[in-house]
Amino acid sequence: MTTTSIATRLLDHFGLGAAAQTGDWPVRSPIDGATLAQVRTHGLADADAAITRAQQAFEAWRSVPAPRRGELIRLLGEALRQDKQALGELVSLETGKILSEGLGEVQEMIDICDFAVGLSRQLHGLTIASERPGHRMMETWHPLGVVGVISAFNFPAAVWSWNFALAIVCGNPVVWKPSEKTPLTALACQALFERAAQRFGDAPQDLSQLLVGARELGERLVDDHRVALVSATGSTRMGREVAPRVAQRFGRSLLELGGNNAVIVTPSADLDLAVRGIAFAAVGTCGQRCTTTRRLIVHEGVREALVARLKKAYAGLPVGHPLEAGTLVGPLIDGASFEAMQAALRLAAAEGGRVTGGERLLQAEHPQAYYVRPAIVEMPAQTDTVRRETFAPILYVLGYTDFDEALRLQNDVPQGLSSAVFTNDLREAETFLSASGSDCGIANVNIGTSGAEIGGAFGGEKETGGGRESGSDAWRNYMRRATNTVNYSRALPLAQGVRFDV
Ligand code: NAD
Repeated sequence: MTTTSIATRLLDHFGLGAAAQTGDWPVRSPIDGATLAQVRTHGLADADAAITRAQQAFEAWRSVPAPRRGELIRLLGEALRQDKQALGELVSLETGKILSEGLGEVQEMIDICDFAVGLSRQLHGLTIASERPGHRMMETWHPLGVVGVISAFNFPAAVWSWNFALAIVCGNPVVWKPSEKTPLTALACQALFERAAQRFGDAPQDLSQLLVGARELGERLVDDHRVALVSATGSTRMGREVAPRVAQRFGRSLLELGGNNAVIVTPSADLDLAVRGIAFAAVGTCGQRCTTTRRLIVHEGVREALVARLKKAYAGLPVGHPLEAGTLVGPLIDGASFEAMQAALRLAAAEGGRVTGGERLLQAEHPQAYYVRPAIVEMPAQTDTVRRETFAPILYVLGYTDFDEALRLQNDVPQGLSSAVFTNDLREAETFLSASGSDCGIANVNIGTSGAEIGGAFGGEKETGGGRESGSDAWRNYMRRATNTVNYSRALPLAQGVRFDV
């Protein structure tokens, strides 16, 4: 079956057949370059109108009890369970990730829905001891307002759901600007939400709206003072533009930007685990996860053995059509990505790197698609090229002799998303997790850098943007906190013992 016919089947499944064929924006599959659909894009006036409608939805939704809001997300979770296969296939078709990862992305959406349903009964504030007699202090968490979500191509559905499920139970409508490279997945998510909303019955209109098109639509969300929170996932370049503009109008932003994630392998490490952990994290999604392992910092004592095993694993990796059983590595998203990968490999070689792999594959069968053999590059030092995020499967290898040196290398990059150590030495593991260890938002022991569970807060430091999404207390980003003091006495004592008798 061709990618176009699979797309037609899936779009019909989601009831999007006609709507996705008559628009002005061609959607191409990275699998073979074929045009999958023609979607209609929105203009700036549509963006303004969507924000106005979202504002109206907010006024109704914020007063609906949170557990009832949770019911809507429970129904979305059910819709996702029912359509897991179809949505997973669509994600694969549009991004080129293998089906197992496409399905995994939908599972993550189901998981966050379950999490958010529980959360809808746990949006707790504190009670706080007052210094004044006959007084009580407490915190109340209220819905925040319209949430603008800007998302990247590589997780076209999960990133939306992390934000959406929490925003909705917290009482906020969402206006979503998905990546221009993956509008079909976004349209399917919207269709699933509408199905859930219909079953729910009395949800206000426009709790969920889509803006399909280029970055200007995202910029509109960024600049509009009615958008209380801009949650933006993408490159550091994008975050650098978005953050000051949102700050300028005193809006809130939640940034999930680029990573340059490292794995440290120490002499005591279980190399079987390390090889599997590194291979999945370095080549999964063809190196296009924000948490992809891009740097391997390995002790000189085990370097030769580990690199030899990784090279062997890389040489046998099944690269090809992501919907075919057995494939582990699909294509890069597009030609620009391929060019960026080749440019990084040339620069690394000029800096003294020894490159294995990285060449284009399957060019004769798919001249309009960009399949590559993932690359391993043995570097003499952590050069500028290594310190940059190239969104492609390149694993830079650096040696070390002293654990402190490994930690210094690990932290000496501008990004701070994910990190891992493979070790059986308790001192090394605990040092890695300590205040003087990894400076990343995610630090793991004996597992790779990618594939986070939704229960934890997800995000990173430095140029990764500092935002936290998903589990733990990330919900607080989507609410505003009010501190309340209640006086149930007959006197009016002032705080700090101040006297002011009138
Ligand atoms: P990108 O920055 O090119 O685009 C991301 C989104 O931002 C798109 O929807 C785009 O239209 C929009 N956009 C771009 N410039 C904008 C601007 N000035 N104002 C408003 N919107 C703007 O990123 P991409 O190529 O789609 O994704 C890859 C990048 O995303 C990588 O750097 C990766 O590490 C990062 N990423 C990070 C996370 C995370 O959680 N930290 C998750 C996924 C991807």
